[in-house]
Amino acid sequence: MKRARKTPVRTCVGCGRGADKRELVRIVRTADGHVTVDPTGKEAGRGAYVCADAACFEAAVRRRRFDSALRVSLKDDDIDRLARELKDALSILDSPRQGR
Ligand SMILES: [Zn+2]
Repeated sequence: MKRARKTPVRTCVGCGRGADKRELVRIVRTADGHVTVDPTGKEAGRGAYVCADAACFEAAVRRRRFDSALRVSLKDDDIDRLARELKDALSILDSPRQGR
């Protein structure tokens, strides 16, 4: 009997919970050093994952988890931008039909 293909498990850098990759939002540092929210999870680069929950993002920011996970030094501006990008990504996840 064949086993079902395992879904990759990733750890949220905010709360430390391990979850199915699809339940988490990926933050990626691209090759040019730009840090961005990656809702598709397909962007090349070093990634960190948080739950689809702004509270986990904030916890990760407070503990500077992105800095160590992505080997960057995020400025307040970057964090503000990422928070907005995450909010956009979450609203897409919340409304799969993407109706405007
Ligand atoms: Zn979390």
